[in-house]
Amino acid sequence: MYANYHTHTFRCHHATGTEEEYIKIAIENGIKIMGFSDHAPFVYPGGFQAGYCVHAEDAEDYIDTLKALREKYKGKIEIIIGFEMEYYPIYFDDMLSNVKKLGAEYLILGQHFIGNGYPDGIGSCSPNHTEEMFSCYTDGVIEGMKTGKFSYLAHPDMFLYAENDEIYNREAKRLCEAAKELEIPLEINLLGIHSKRHYPKEAFWKIAGEVGCKVIFGFDAHSADRAYDKESLKIAEKIVKKYNLKLIDELDIKEL
Ligand SMILES: [Zn+2]
Ligand SMILES: [Zn+2]
Repeated sequence: MYANYHTHTFRCHHATGTEEEYIKIAIENGIKIMGFSDHAPFVYPGGFQAGYCVHAEDAEDYIDTLKALREKYKGKIEIIIGFEMEYYPIYFDDMLSNVKKLGAEYLILGQHFIGNGYPDGIGSCSPNHTEEMFSCYTDGVIEGMKTGKFSYLAHPDMFLYAENDEIYNREAKRLCEAAKELEIPLEINLLGIHSKRHYPKEAFWKIAGEVGCKVIFGFDAHSADRAYDKESLKIAEKIVKKYNLKLIDELDIKEL
């Protein structure tokens, strides 16, 4: 694996280790481009900040620390600094200008909540989703991709829906067709493989293969030992082969 664009830091409150530990493991395993994409900070009107995101007061340190490490490891690895962010229609402009102001170099879309997120807060991985919620997830992801600001879509198959195959396939197809048309790569999430989550979901990747989507691997490292994951890579490669997916190893970074 040549590049990994999905890396977190301890500042999101659910990851461990120092950035330098992650970088060393990536270098040892031959990664040439390493993107840091911690959960984007955002202060909602009223002052709320999501617990799983970098808090606004830590954002500058995130950027500065990574810029210093980029200099330190120059020539060994290329470090790019961005965020993983949701697309929430009513907040998007503010969220985008916020990460731009911080100096983010790229964004990946990770739709962990549907609709406008806070204050409804329906998680994409929550149980008991309805068909309407599924459509809301797909609509949000498609609109997000259409902004042209996200370089790829992280764990596109994270929405938890096990009730009805017909509805699942319809929504997955809608998402995949939009990604194909907009030329946005879809991420096979290696942390999902390692943690035996409900994603990567084979039914989704079957459709992605039929539609002809571009796919990319992302480690989604929340600890240094996941900054490279040989075992999960083997399984991800099997998925690529099985569904004839168009694997890419380097991203076209979309300007913010
Ligand atoms: Zn996370
Ligand atoms: Zn994520």
